[in-house]
Amino acid sequence: MNKILISACLMGQNVRYDGKNSLITHPVIQSLQQQGRLVVFCPEVAGGLPTPRAPAEIKSRYPILVTTADQEDVTPQFLLGAELAVEKAQEVGACCAVLKSNSPSCGNREIYDGKFTNTLIPGSGVAASELQRHGFPVYNEHEIDQLLEFITTFDLSMNRHSA
Ligand code: SF4
Repeated sequence: MNKILISACLMGQNVRYDGKNSLITHPVIQSLQQQGRLVVFCPEVAGGLPTPRAPAEIKSRYPILVTTADQEDVTPQFLLGAELAVEKAQEVGACCAVLKSNSPSCGNREIYDGKFTNTLIPGSGVAASELQRHGFPVYNEHEIDQLLEFITTFDLSMNRHSA
């Protein structure tokens, strides 16, 4: 069965900017983990950023610019992390990803507005965007029902093709 890329912080790894995690204990995720289907990945750490680190936001999309509140440019690390996330998803043959909501890397629906005012706006993080652009459906930790529906349909279609 196909693998699913998942944000490392959702699996309890202390890789968030503040050195903490965002563990989810949803039974569907636990079951997928028991089946060995989850591939744990943190784009920001993979891109070379330390933990803990200053929080960053996407200031501009075109051209892409990601900075900390102190204006440190962390765009190269975010772009590398996104590229490596796609490479990992392709390498393991992932069918989709479950990524942490609202993150400038992993958010799939909303991100902070780039002004460090704690304001969410519609949009995707850098890694989530790249995964979507390469055809990987991206869900967040509040969309586990939709994830389950997708993988059930996906697994059924794979079974039909291999029957
Ligand atoms: Fe979690 Fe993604 Fe941030 Fe890494 S980059 S800490 S996986 S939200």
